[in-house]
Amino acid sequence: MYNISKKSQKWRCLYVLLIFFILLTGCSSEPASDNKHISYAESITEEPAISEANESLEQENSSVLATEIVSAPSVEGELTVHFIDVDQGDATLIITPAGRTLLVDAGEPSQGNHLVQYLTALGISHIDVIVATHPHADHIGGLPQIIRSFEVGKVLMPKVTHTTRAFENLLLAIQEKGLKITYAKAGLPLEIDPEVGIMLIGPHGDSYNNLNDYSASLRLTHGENALVITGDAEETAEMEMVRSGMDLAANLLRVGHHGSSSSSVPAFLDAVSPSYGIISCGRDNSYGHPHQEVLQRLQGRGIQVFRTDEQGTIIAVSDGEAWQFDTMPVTSFVEERTAEAEAAKEESSAAAGSSDGRGYIGNKNSGIFHTADCSSLPAEHNRIYFDTRDEAMEAGQRPCQRCKP
Ligand SMILES: [Zn+2]
Ligand SMILES: [Zn+2]
Repeated sequence: MYNISKKSQKWRCLYVLLIFFILLTGCSSEPASDNKHISYAESITEEPAISEANESLEQENSSVLATEIVSAPSVEGELTVHFIDVDQGDATLIITPAGRTLLVDAGEPSQGNHLVQYLTALGISHIDVIVATHPHADHIGGLPQIIRSFEVGKVLMPKVTHTTRAFENLLLAIQEKGLKITYAKAGLPLEIDPEVGIMLIGPHGDSYNNLNDYSASLRLTHGENALVITGDAEETAEMEMVRSGMDLAANLLRVGHHGSSSSSVPAFLDAVSPSYGIISCGRDNSYGHPHQEVLQRLQGRGIQVFRTDEQGTIIAVSDGEAWQFDTMPVTSFVEERTAEAEAAKEESSAAAGSSDGRGYIGNKNSGIFHTADCSSLPAEHNRIYFDTRDEAMEAGQRPCQRCKP
């Protein structure tokens, strides 16, 4: 039915734009049910609908921000993050202590079935927020099936269109369900659970040469723990995040763009300063993800890496103090890292003059302490040194499960 001719491309382009504009009018304060009364003709002539939508979005932002300052989140329940194996692509499911659900991306169209089954098996029937980071098929492909299979609260995506079948299908599914699109924009908070803070940290701009840089990016906090997800944001977007002065620090990072070397620039990794990195990519993928340079950048910072291509779905649980994983980090560069960590430790204890090389090493971020020879030592700048085990325990640190100090 779809011939790849210039004519059909042009029509598809117009069609996608039309649906997109119609859906954007849903961002205004009108009830969602009114969407179906907006005709195609009206939405074309009503350009101002977009700025109106932005206005209401900004108003919403400022009121939410005001209330956030008053109440600091207290932590009681657990937060679970599923980095679901979708081969080459991304799909992250977050379940908050109150049982609220957030799905960030859903892999290629072929992953739709698998994801519907995965979520159903967890007893999920309602997704509070869907984030479509950017319109590439390895991120939004499975979303139409998800949207049609579950109740959905709202859909967040960057303000950019893409004339592909995958994007067109996503817009159709959103339209069918009468859902509203909320623009993703740095500085927009998401309130889904009082125990969890979510702030969009990207995109900052509204015009990029590269679709990946539009990626809706977020930082989630749960007690002492934080998680950063940046879709496929590359250097341009990462550097905007760094320069923005927003808080990017997170002990858990979903490593950007499947571990591509066009992302995870050193300044960004330093700003986030994670203890753990999750790489989501397909086994033997044609892009060569994750790239060696990125693995080296992670290794050099003592970041422990998990990979969906080698380990399948990875589940991280936060109790508000530390992350626990359902699997061990990949060990391919543990030996080298340990040697480096030993050298770094000797250097720093010599400089501090306080330790004789024995003792315990805690992690400022995760609150977990280790023996000095543990293979899971935190990055140098995240370390706190203790002379005795008691000292570490008194400081509120918890023993590592690997070295059992
Ligand atoms: Zn991607
Ligand atoms: Zn992409």
